[in-house]
Amino acid sequence: MSEFVLEVTDLVKHYHTGGRQVVRAVDGVSLAIRPGEVLGLVGESGSGKSTVGKCVLRLTDPTAGTVRVDGRDITALSRRAMRPVRRDVHMVFQDPFSSLNPRMTIGQIVGEPLRHHRLASGRDAKEQVATMLDRVGLRPELAQRYPHELSGGQRQRVGLARSLILRPKLIVADEPVSALDVSVQASVLNLIADLQQDMGFSCLFITHDLSVVEFLADRIAVMYLGRIVETGPRERIFADPRHPYTQALLSAAPLPDPVRQRERRRVVLSGDPPSPTHPPAGCHFQTRCPVAVDRCRSEPPALLGTDHLTACHLVTAEGDAPLLTKGT
Ligand code: ADP
Ligand code: MG
Repeated sequence: MSEFVLEVTDLVKHYHTGGRQVVRAVDGVSLAIRPGEVLGLVGESGSGKSTVGKCVLRLTDPTAGTVRVDGRDITALSRRAMRPVRRDVHMVFQDPFSSLNPRMTIGQIVGEPLRHHRLASGRDAKEQVATMLDRVGLRPELAQRYPHELSGGQRQRVGLARSLILRPKLIVADEPVSALDVSVQASVLNLIADLQQDMGFSCLFITHDLSVVEFLADRIAVMYLGRIVETGPRERIFADPRHPYTQALLSAAPLPDPVRQRERRRVVLSGDPPSPTHPPAGCHFQTRCPVAVDRCRSEPPALLGTDHLTACHLVTAEGDAPLLTKGT
């Protein structure tokens, strides 16, 4: 067994749209996930999170870089050679409605991976489906129903059941609760946490909302315009954010402790992120960074550190941050 279930190295994805425009959606991303670990990949819309997820699942081909699953380089595998990998890696999509075939019953949808990989059929498949439906908190009668008869929360439970029925090693969950009513988001998040504890799969959990991964993730990677700007253990990221962008993201989220909330200075980002067709020179964040210096406008910062890594010229080797939020 490899040390990492997923290892992404120097991943680049450029989309060539009409004309000479190139969208630099992912611009050199490296990340790794250990067995049983949850990595929260966080960033604003358009920062390239979904593209990373799609490259991991080979739903799109990377422009450069490598993706390893359980130590095996899958970057250039043929469709056929990818087949066994697809037993180990599954995706949970944001929109549980458009990702479920409207003409299949819930039972057929959840059991489809078993048939596709010829792992079970007939009564055996039915039993496995029933077990999985129960595991995600759905009544067995729902197996006979169709997706349109279910609520959003129930549909996302179906999506989870289908993704987990093969007991995969890795789940890529792309904004799995963002399309749900706020009232059901917490119950689906709790379910994912329970399932993850019980079944022990690793998870790349993609979200634009840092608060969603506060309780779920072991580690966090913060993305900005195609690059990871900071990554580390969850509690370190929340207690000691070092990159000005991470500090801004955190200062936008309310703190549970009202005293800390009052003491904190809010870092408000002005404007929108630049377009990934024309990313700024140097640090991608420099155009919105309240503390940028000349060097930031010419030289891209490397992601430095051990365990807790930051890509910022203003963060010293000891990890002193630009003090946007600490003690102010
Ligand atoms: P996120 O998931 O963080 O919102 P995405 O990975 O979906 O970001 O998108 C990153 C950038 O790539 C965005 O600017 C988006 O418009 C662009 N993009 C995504 N998919 C395509 C595509 N198929 N063709 C062209 N551009 C794309
Ligand atoms: Mg996305």
